Amino acid sequence: MIDLRSDTVTKPSPEMYEAMANAKVGDDVYRDDPTIIELEELVADTLGFEAGLFVTSGTQSNFTSVLTHCGRGEEYIIGEGYHIYKSEAVGTAALGGVIPQTVPVLEDGSIDIEVAIGKVKSDDMHFPRTKLLCLENTYNGKPLSPKYMQRATAAARKVNLRSHLDGARLMNAAIANKCTPRELASSFDTVSLCLSKGLGAPVGSVLVGNQDFINEARRVRKMLGGGMRQAGILAACGIVAMKNQVDRLIQDHALAARLASELAQIPDIETEPQGANTNMVFIKVEHKHRAPLQNFLKEEGILIGGRPPTFRLVLHRDITENDVNKTVSSIAKFFRGLSY
Ligand SMILES: *Cc1c(COP(=O)(O)O)cnc(C)c1O
Repeated sequence: MIDLRSDTVTKPSPEMYEAMANAKVGDDVYRDDPTIIELEELVADTLGFEAGLFVTSGTQSNFTSVLTHCGRGEEYIIGEGYHIYKSEAVGTAALGGVIPQTVPVLEDGSIDIEVAIGKVKSDDMHFPRTKLLCLENTYNGKPLSPKYMQRATAAARKVNLRSHLDGARLMNAAIANKCTPRELASSFDTVSLCLSKGLGAPVGSVLVGNQDFINEARRVRKMLGGGMRQAGILAACGIVAMKNQVDRLIQDHALAARLASELAQIPDIETEPQGANTNMVFIKVEHKHRAPLQNFLKEEGILIGGRPPTFRLVLHRDITENDVNKTVSSIAKFFRGLSY
């Protein structure tokens, strides 16, 4: 199968299996797992932070962060399409008593900083207390610039807001911006990075912040059931991901750009005017063609996903140039078939 539904579908590489087999492990709840400690330090250092915390998923990472920054009856400001609000079953509110104050997401994936700051409530017993600004990079495959990240976090600091970055695909954003991940990350109070997206590890994310924050977050992670034991076998894959799988994201971006431009040649396909900036391609077809196209491609051995009215095609380590060629020709074949 050519699986374009997400970059989460990658299987561990041979190096990852080898690293798992050889990982030195211990009980991480006692801080005895040297591989987890190595991964946490590696990610913290790469992103420009004091300390890191290995967690089960991006959702748990963001959840742990929001619940460490905010208490019950407090709020965070966030783009209305961002993952923490829209795609994590709003655990922050359901389980944490922390509510989101949303603002619109602009065409480029950013939020208007002035609009966001304008949502900060004054000190009044009737109001929620506003504690945190949450941003996301990349958002729907759109990379935000270091300049924007720095402007946003400076504006937040000015009004005593903390800042958290959902950097699930931060490495894709750094590659698209031709900058270091640190330039995008280090002005935030906390950042979450997914190892199991384009970086290709089977499981895990790392939350980074200063040492005091991470100490507190470790307690929250425990509360959320995320204290793991000999999870160094998983962290070992994360280390391989951080060391060997970042630069190859360039190939995913190049193939995504090619896929977007070739699909743009097919008259029945609507692509995004800017093409693909990272590893995702979004397309639209007439509603009546949606299910038939998806089924046809499945029969051709190609899986695509995304919510109506959009299809999302995601490039990752297990997709080759030939797979991209086959995808373009199968989609073209589907629409050629219709005109007869
Ligand atoms: C995937 C993703 C997450 C959550 O990660 P999971 O490991 O699936 O829980 C959070 N934010 C963004 C932007 C993501 O793409």
